[in-house]
Amino acid sequence: MRSTECLRCRLEHGYPTPSLGRDAVLAEALPWLKERRIWSRGRFGSYKYEVANQDHSLMLGVECADNILFGTKEMTLQHPSIVNAGSNNELLYSKRGFVDA
Ligand SMILES: Cc1cc2nc3c(=O)[nH]c(=O)nc-3n(C[C@H](O)[C@H](O)[C@H](O)COP(=O)(O)OP(=O)(O)OC[C@H]3O[C@@H](n4cnc5c(N)ncnc54)[C@H](O)[C@@H]3O)c2cc1C
Repeated sequence: MRSTECLRCRLEHGYPTPSLGRDAVLAEALPWLKERRIWSRGRFGSYKYEVANQDHSLMLGVECADNILFGTKEMTLQHPSIVNAGSNNELLYSKRGFVDA
């Protein structure tokens, strides 16, 4: 088989690139936005590459909505090392946010 067509597409922003100063910037920027009622979340919204895959991004949205409605903790945003640590046997996700299993 031979290819007859080729589509090229350059995407300027594909990865929320980590940097040494990133955490300090986010620690200031995200609360500043939230004070103005902007929950900036998602792959680029929260700019944390370690929690920016599809599964993470979905949970960032779910936990963001719960935080707005019920004030529950946003585990994926605030604790990447816990949510990425492996299989979760300790916390369950419920209508009340994360609860002990
Ligand atoms: C090359 C590549 C490969 C990947 N492979 C995987 C993989 O194998 N597995 C995996 O789990 N994840 C993968 N990902 C990551 C996955 O694509 C993201 O985790 C997911 O798409 C993030 O979802 P999101 O809703 O946060 O952001 P996005 O999907 O980026 O959605 C943001 C949306 O907002 C829109 N937008 C931006 N600015 C504005 C504006 N000012 N006004 C209105 N709309 C705006 C954008 O057009 C876009 O539609 C990959 C990503 C890339 C780039």
